[in-house]
Amino acid sequence: MDLLTSLGDIFGDFIDPKKRVFAGYLALSVVLALLWLVWADRMGARAALARIFDRRVLFSKSSFADAKIFVINRLISLVISPYLLSQLAIATALYFWLHGQSVIPHGGFDTLPVALIVALFSVTMFVVDDLSKYLVHRWMHRFPLLWAIHKVHHSATTMTPVTVYRVHPLEGVLYGLRSAVAQGSTLSLFYFLFGDAVSLYTVLGVNALVFFFHITGSNLRHSHIEIRYWRWLEHILISPAQHQLHHSIAKRHYDKNFGVALAVWDWLFGSLHLSEKEKSEPLEFGLEGRDGRYEADLKVIYFEPFREMGRILRRRARRGAGLFKRGKSHSPAE
Ligand SMILES: [Zn+2]
Ligand SMILES: [Zn+2]
Repeated sequence: MDLLTSLGDIFGDFIDPKKRVFAGYLALSVVLALLWLVWADRMGARAALARIFDRRVLFSKSSFADAKIFVINRLISLVISPYLLSQLAIATALYFWLHGQSVIPHGGFDTLPVALIVALFSVTMFVVDDLSKYLVHRWMHRFPLLWAIHKVHHSATTMTPVTVYRVHPLEGVLYGLRSAVAQGSTLSLFYFLFGDAVSLYTVLGVNALVFFFHITGSNLRHSHIEIRYWRWLEHILISPAQHQLHHSIAKRHYDKNFGVALAVWDWLFGSLHLSEKEKSEPLEFGLEGRDGRYEADLKVIYFEPFREMGRILRRRARRGAGLFKRGKSHSPAE
């Protein structure tokens, strides 16, 4: 394989506007962080830049591990992604199934103005995708079998935009499946109801709402820059500071702010935590009990989740308990 092509495949996310770490979004995040520190924290520009590019964060053990995990996970994903269930496969299967039923009328709304259909589709895609992320994330914390793999993401002790890739490959597979189901089912239902006019409002090939989410600093949720929104807005959109609270090891922040873009799910289902302006001490990220084994040891990060899942299953088998019995999140055992 051509070396340049391989490097392009691994690092392609940085030049792909569909991805959060697209260089343009990262550059905008630096500008936003700078404006925030100068405006809200009344810092000088030099001090603000020094804070944004804090060497203790960028060159920490945790950060170096993030970079290695990024490369390894990209390689794994290149190998396995052709074998995963695709959005199109789900959409096609559902589309044919819809033809066989008579409850939902075929093409019942295809006379609506195209602009309305496109707007409806763009919003529904965004909302359904975001809700599915909230639900799967919540389950990741609720069920010990899933927490065994999700704890890899929470083991980061410092956060940079690359931390979004700090996930166990099994979590990557689950999220891929989630995205295929959420987007594939929305796609097929819309085609069935609204016909060929279905398409997305896009900017640079990305759903306009996703684009808006990224240019307003989605990268800063994995960072040490605590951008807060107004209280009313934090009920609707998750601010970077709210996702940082989700990563905090303080007990009062456990099981809060599972949302990705929208905070309404957390608000509706009782897991919302607004950002805190006055804190007695700075936020500390990582796992409960400061379990440092996961911080930078790649053997632990990749293999320990399998061993932990094995331990949980054996315990369940001995007790004759179900596979997905609810557990207490953030607790390494049950
Ligand atoms: Zn989480
Ligand atoms: Zn996170």
